Amino acid sequence: RDLYAPSRVNSPGVEFGDETALASLLAEVATGQTRVLKRAQPIIAGKPASGQARPVVSPVDGREVGTVDEADVASIEAAFAAAAKAFQPWSTTPATTRAEALEQLADLLEHERGALIALLAHEAGKTLDDAVSEVREAMDFCRYYAVEARRQFGSGQIMPGPTGEENRLVLRGRGTIICISPWNFPLAIFLGQVAAALAAGNAVIAKPAEQTPLIAALAVSLAHKAGIPPGALSLLPGDGRVGAALVGDSRVAGVAFTGSTEVATKINQTLAARRGPIVPLIAETGGINAMIVDATALPEQVSDDVVMSAFRSAGQRCSALRLLCLQEDVAERMLDMVRGAAAELKIGDPRDPSVHVGPVIDGEAKQRLDAVVARAKAEGRLVWQAGLPAGVPDGLFVPPAIVRVASPSDLTEEVFGPVLHVTTWKAGQLPALLDAIAANGTGLTLGIHSRIDQVQEAIVERLNHGNVYVNRNMIGAVVGTQPFGGSGLSGTGPKAGGPHYLARFAIEQVVSVNT
Ligand code: NAP
Repeated sequence: RDLYAPSRVNSPGVEFGDETALASLLAEVATGQTRVLKRAQPIIAGKPASGQARPVVSPVDGREVGTVDEADVASIEAAFAAAAKAFQPWSTTPATTRAEALEQLADLLEHERGALIALLAHEAGKTLDDAVSEVREAMDFCRYYAVEARRQFGSGQIMPGPTGEENRLVLRGRGTIICISPWNFPLAIFLGQVAAALAAGNAVIAKPAEQTPLIAALAVSLAHKAGIPPGALSLLPGDGRVGAALVGDSRVAGVAFTGSTEVATKINQTLAARRGPIVPLIAETGGINAMIVDATALPEQVSDDVVMSAFRSAGQRCSALRLLCLQEDVAERMLDMVRGAAAELKIGDPRDPSVHVGPVIDGEAKQRLDAVVARAKAEGRLVWQAGLPAGVPDGLFVPPAIVRVASPSDLTEEVFGPVLHVTTWKAGQLPALLDAIAANGTGLTLGIHSRIDQVQEAIVERLNHGNVYVNRNMIGAVVGTQPFGGSGLSGTGPKAGGPHYLARFAIEQVVSVNT
């Protein structure tokens, strides 16, 4: 039997230019809107628990979209107990059965797409386009890890050895895995981590970002409906304190974390300092992602790709372009074109299908981003900023902006929003530019626009970035096609949506039998 299941294909998208398809999507979202969850609670062994309640507020209009009961010490304890009980039966469930549950979950996500999109738009401020892609990615993760679980977690691999001896290498779940996710992909990353950990035969305790508990609660209820045993997947909403309490516990068998480098570093320290077994941390974090453009690049393509990579999703993707490095000879012309293309972006309510840029996630993000732009303006480095169209409330919208920096080393932090930094480099100084890019220590995505093969190769050879995009945009990695994740300060690997991911959630055991 071909365990690669070659018939698996990623889920289809929606063609927004096709009026019939768009109308049908909007109808689906309107119906889904009536089914969205309004209350997120800790879910332990399939049962809701109560906790300190607080409102969940939409970044779109500041209205309350629901409430969340935050997990307390009792819920954390109960979740560990439920996971311990569920682990053995789930890890010894055949991988094919676990895979079937994940495929069933993907089908349920498809069925509930309208409600999921409505929540992504209201709770996370996602544009319809981004929300459609995110539901697709969540389904693709489930189906991809199902295929990989069948392939890697079956009866094991017979290793070569002497006659009269059988050596079998098997992968098995580790125990209780903690999954901690960010708000910017509150469904796809949340479920991607969870699906992988479950596929590998672990019990999971998942903590979503504090801004997006409702969609996580809906996803967990669908997972249970799909056949994931209640105790094998618990949900503990709450803020970073819940995450910190979870990772500090000696019963943890591994942590999957996606978020900032700062928090990943803290988790790493906590894991190292706590009592108990040495466990893996799979950390996927951010980066100061650069795009290098030389004088041979096609200007129209560059401007389209820059605008897509820096400003779509309001720049709130870990893969987003942060630092545009233009060869001096063509810099002013390219910059003019980028500015022109960026000015065409429509900013506004993300539920309007013609909108390209929605709000940023919360007041803290807005303040931080406005401060970056204000400082650049005061220092004479603000190249351009879009205006807010009439009727769009100031609220949490940050109009796309372009800010100049003298050299790559002037940008020392990931600016997580629609603020693009731009710098120039002189012909003959590419090696110095690459050294400066390498010096910030991050290594997530890298863009190259050049029509010279040797230039492309020299850049790829010098830099360790996890995902390199040549003569195209830098966002939207595709499950199973562009496994995603960085190196250095950007993450530990292995790559999500790639063939090595599941094994990191497992222990390897070799059984040698004298036959
Ligand atoms: P974040 O502040 O690091 O938070 C991520 C998660 O960690 C949240 O659930 C957060 O809880 C939790 N947390 C906070 N403090 C913790 C602690 N001490 N111990 C354990 N958990 C803790 O990141 P974010 O603002 O949500 O997301 C944006 C960041 O994620 C950006 O840096 C972006 O580049 C990165 N990102 C990376 C990838 C990738 O694949 N490489 C993908 C998406 C995003 P609360 O939210 O409740 O505080």
